Amino acid sequence: DDGRVFNFAAGPATLPASVLKQAQEELYNWRGSGMSIMEMSHRGKEFTSIIQNAEASLRSLLKIPDDYAVLFLQGGATTQFASVPLNLCKPEDTADYIVSGSWSDKAFKEGQKYCTAKVVWSGKSNKYTDLPQPGELSLTPGARFLHICANETIHGVEFKDYPSPGGDTLLVADMSSNFCSKPVDVSKFALIYAGAQKNIGPSGVTIVIVRKDLLGNSQKITPVMLDYKIHADNNSLYNTPPCFGIYVCGLVFSDLLEKGGLRAAEQRNIEKAKLLYDAIDASNGFFKCPVKKEVRSLMNVPFTMETPDLEAAFLKEAAAGGMVQLKGHRSVGGIRASIYNAMPKAGVEKLVALMKSFQERHA
Ligand code: PMP
Repeated sequence: DDGRVFNFAAGPATLPASVLKQAQEELYNWRGSGMSIMEMSHRGKEFTSIIQNAEASLRSLLKIPDDYAVLFLQGGATTQFASVPLNLCKPEDTADYIVSGSWSDKAFKEGQKYCTAKVVWSGKSNKYTDLPQPGELSLTPGARFLHICANETIHGVEFKDYPSPGGDTLLVADMSSNFCSKPVDVSKFALIYAGAQKNIGPSGVTIVIVRKDLLGNSQKITPVMLDYKIHADNNSLYNTPPCFGIYVCGLVFSDLLEKGGLRAAEQRNIEKAKLLYDAIDASNGFFKCPVKKEVRSLMNVPFTMETPDLEAAFLKEAAAGGMVQLKGHRSVGGIRASIYNAMPKAGVEKLVALMKSFQERHA
């Protein structure tokens, strides 16, 4: 026992133990360079190899076509809420947003500042427990893009198939909380963005994958740091990038490749999520997951119990057993287990065992 807990946090979140240990081993003197990555020039040959390898591994994992740029940026996914319309739209263009939870709602609200943003579907009246059926969407003809949040981290709803907007409308997805958790057909999207701090690394790195033909049309007011073309032309080295974070992302990408790529990651994630949802569904209502079965997230599993007191008692027992960060987001309450790529199956099994024993003692 090395004192590590099972960390069910929604992000920053648990990382693979092997990656942390490698980063620790290489921290003081990176591969004989005589210095740590934090101390290196971002333009030196060492860091150049680090960022190039990270990009190559990500391209190989997600099978990213050559006509897409991969950018390592800063500012979190929240910055992308502005960058997307600033780069893809004229101020008078319409952009459609599916609002399936708190994060897509934030994206919509920020988008309104830089284009004519329209909500084409909202799950709010159902407390964000559902997603639109394909036929249910009426999109704006001529909309520049359709924005979706592939996985709502707080509400636990995840797209299993993606809408195809049709016409010239571009599909844009916030994949912050399910990035690299399963294979994705990148060619269906004009742009994918994700903050690193759930599945792939530390906070401070934001990944943008964008079709190259869309670059170079940003609005006049676009700050240089938000202009994709500037970053693409400079291989993400226009200014000083988050070097150490990019290095850790690269280690995680290599680790995922070694463990069989994203198809294998998806299989592990399905297995873990099934353990947890089955336990909830078999509890005769002692535990309840509000999300419609077809759209339940493989990454973030929210559930509730009869009373806040019971939930508090459960969280306390979980913490005593080395299972932490299970409290639901402050906006929705309840319990939330985030079970990203790096959460071991043993962690989910331990949580399920506690759920069963807790129910026996309290039902
Ligand atoms: N989108 C989603 C789906 C998220 O989960 C989060 C963070 N929890 C964000 C956007 C915002 O990310 P950041 O904190 O990196 O700005």
